[in-house]
Amino acid sequence: MKNKLNNMKNSCKHQKLIEVKTSMYNHYTGEDHIEENWVWEDTFEDIDLHRYKCTQCGKIHYYSGAAKAYYTKGTENPTLGPTCD
Ligand SMILES: [Zn+2]
Repeated sequence: MKNKLNNMKNSCKHQKLIEVKTSMYNHYTGEDHIEENWVWEDTFEDIDLHRYKCTQCGKIHYYSGAAKAYYTKGTENPTLGPTCD
């Protein structure tokens, strides 16, 4: 229950810092060196065709208002029905 309340507050940025190492060629020394950078990466993962979830706080997001209506209110939407590809 406490967990749920924390989720409601949600201070989650839906991002996390990850270290990215890039191999860079140094023209002066003729050697490669590793450049390290910290970048913010989204923590979202797709859970359905039109919605995705933050892997850290579990908050569900929708790609569009129509998708949100479809999943939260059951509103029929032809573009979200069975795919016809
Ligand atoms: Zn989050």
